[in-house]
Amino acid sequence: MANQYAVIGLGRFGISIAQKLFESGQEVLGVDVNEERVEDSHSFVTHAVIADSTDAEALKSIGIRNFDTVVVAIGNDIQASILTVLLLKELGVKRVIAKALNKLHGQVLDKVGADWVVFPERDMGMRVAHQLLSPKVLNFIEISKNYSVEEVKIPESMIEKTLRELDLRARFNLSVIAIRHEDEINISPSPDKIINHGDVLVVIGENRYLEKFANIE
Ligand code: ADP
Repeated sequence: MANQYAVIGLGRFGISIAQKLFESGQEVLGVDVNEERVEDSHSFVTHAVIADSTDAEALKSIGIRNFDTVVVAIGNDIQASILTVLLLKELGVKRVIAKALNKLHGQVLDKVGADWVVFPERDMGMRVAHQLLSPKVLNFIEISKNYSVEEVKIPESMIEKTLRELDLRARFNLSVIAIRHEDEINISPSPDKIINHGDVLVVIGENRYLEKFANIE
């Protein structure tokens, strides 16, 4: 069954969230105080309304409490973003996700009840730096402070060897959970699997070992 989402603030961040949810078949209500932004949003939301989300009556009349998840994607108006989150939680919205511009903004959003605070610029900046430091890492997910899953391009020196020969578990304390070749994915590959040119290993382990592995030539 489709979930019901509302996205408040149809700027670049709000639009990309709304669009992805809508394309995945979810019901998405777009809300913005700016009429033009609402008019331009019809191709990627189920419904769109003009409303000021800092106005409790306006939120009530949209029936905002009936939405499972509300994303507050208001850009630079920190005051409006904080007030909106506060009102949404007071009105009983179960899950409120809010975008923070900086650390202090994030702390306040936490205090007024946001269930998940996201820092798009900070997170994207960190990803870009990570990529610059380890060009072989195509993608990564942090699973705790010290552990991650990474997609790593295979170093030249490892081509045509088997996983058993590479012995990444003993050498780097890393587990190979999949091997990707373009769009084909081999889940839980056998130890006799030969690594070919262009293969990407999906590995899990401690960050310091992942970093060592990703810097092998
Ligand atoms: P981005 O950096 O994601 O592009 P913007 O600042 O361009 O962010 O967009 C934020 C959107 O939030 C704008 O379309 C703006 O009209 C909308 N917005 C700001 N304040 C409110 C409010 N109180 N209620 C509803 N929408 C708002």
